[in-house]
Amino acid sequence: MLGRVEKKYGVVVVGGGPAGLGAALGARDYGEDKVLILDREPEAGGILLQCIHSGFGLHYFKEELTGPEYAQRFIEKVIDHDVDILPASYVSRIAADSDGIKKVRIINEKRGILTVEAQAVVLAMGCRERTRGAVRIPGTRPSGILTAGLAQKFVNLMGYLPGKKIAILGSGDIGLIMARRLSLEGCEVVGVFELMPYSNGLSRNVVQCLNDFNIPLHLSNTVAAIHGRDRVEKITVAPVGKDLKPDLARAWDVPCDTLLISIGLIPENELTQNLGISLDVATGGPRVSSTLETSMPGVFACGNVLHVHDLVDFVTNESLLAGRFAAELSRGVRRPGDNIQLLPGENVRYCVPHTLNPGHKHTVYLRCKAPMKPCKIRVGNLIEKKLRFVFPAEMIMLKLKPDLLDKFHGDSLRIDILPLAKEERND
Ligand SMILES: Cc1cc2nc3c(=O)[nH]c(=O)nc-3n(C[C@H](O)[C@H](O)[C@H](O)COP(=O)(O)OP(=O)(O)OC[C@H]3O[C@@H](n4cnc5c(N)ncnc54)[C@H](O)[C@@H]3O)c2cc1C
Repeated sequence: MLGRVEKKYGVVVVGGGPAGLGAALGARDYGEDKVLILDREPEAGGILLQCIHSGFGLHYFKEELTGPEYAQRFIEKVIDHDVDILPASYVSRIAADSDGIKKVRIINEKRGILTVEAQAVVLAMGCRERTRGAVRIPGTRPSGILTAGLAQKFVNLMGYLPGKKIAILGSGDIGLIMARRLSLEGCEVVGVFELMPYSNGLSRNVVQCLNDFNIPLHLSNTVAAIHGRDRVEKITVAPVGKDLKPDLARAWDVPCDTLLISIGLIPENELTQNLGISLDVATGGPRVSSTLETSMPGVFACGNVLHVHDLVDFVTNESLLAGRFAAELSRGVRRPGDNIQLLPGENVRYCVPHTLNPGHKHTVYLRCKAPMKPCKIRVGNLIEKKLRFVFPAEMIMLKLKPDLLDKFHGDSLRIDILPLAKEERND
């Protein structure tokens, strides 16, 4: 279907970031000896290669590593485990034969177009940043407007400063980290402007990247206009009301030469969509079973392509499992399908995976819609867990014991995040 097959693999992993590296190791650990990683970049490591700050690996290695250090540990392991890595290889298409065999079409810088065959495919393509176009900021179109991740690449990998007087729209982690990075490089960061009444980044990043550098965070504010002919000269900032619309009567101008945009990430799911795999509107990623298998048998997903993670350690845990399940399938092991649907209830934006089955331990990742404190998570009528607080920026990990679902006889299980009643607060 996609041309002559050059080589056959048990598991092909699309994407060589932490998710792809973890999935390849998971597959090898299970005993699959023909594993291939494909990445469009010249080197494996994904987004970690440009994240030269520390803060990676606190959970997985119990150490504080930089992004490249974290990536290097996995790249070495993957090489030691004889996984094939094909860099500078863009995957343009995946197709499935009627017998379930997957054909993966690659555009390689040196070798041109080639096709490899796989029993199972793991999608690990990560995500990309939302741009100015996603929020339609009015004004002119001068130079000096770029996403925070692109600015990070310029500064950390290429040695260019994007500007000198920087304003940042959005308080996601990349924006916060770049506020600190650019201050350290001698730029003036005039402020971070956030639409919501709370930050969209991890609390530790607000403290370490803004408070420690006296960079103001303007909550409930947005950029209402960009001004400048050739280069950004200033932005108009306006407070927003409950409807999140800018109140132009109270707007003010902020002089700057650069606007960094840090307003969220979109999982890279064009390949997934072309395969006809069903997606979750809330995550932007595929719907997956408890084995991280998508709606297409033999295609698995993990990492930021599945749902945006804040910590790489969670990406690694999830992808080791995805690789293991892909290897199981490639070696002909078929587990019984899930019979319980997981439903996001009150104050739950999403939960992953989307289905579960009894008799196994499960890790469920979820995010809330709005901050709440103190509160509790309720899983059907099976368990309740108290939490000091929940924030949309901080992913919640819930471990379910193998015997928990044995007591459950329904076909759907709702997860709610609820405020603690007064009498529950002190036990
Ligand atoms: C700025 C920033 C700061 C962060 N800070 C921290 C931190 O301090 N601590 C922490 O734990 N986590 C942090 N994270 C989060 C962590 O880095 C991510 O969760 C993790 O990198 C996601 O891994 P991934 O493999 O899913 O995606 P990525 O790392 O994005 O890897 C995806 C890979 O897929 C490749 N790809 C995509 N499409 C194709 C295709 N069609 N063909 C071939 N290859 C393809 C890409 O080239 C890329 O290499 C940070 C993230 C960012 C962006």
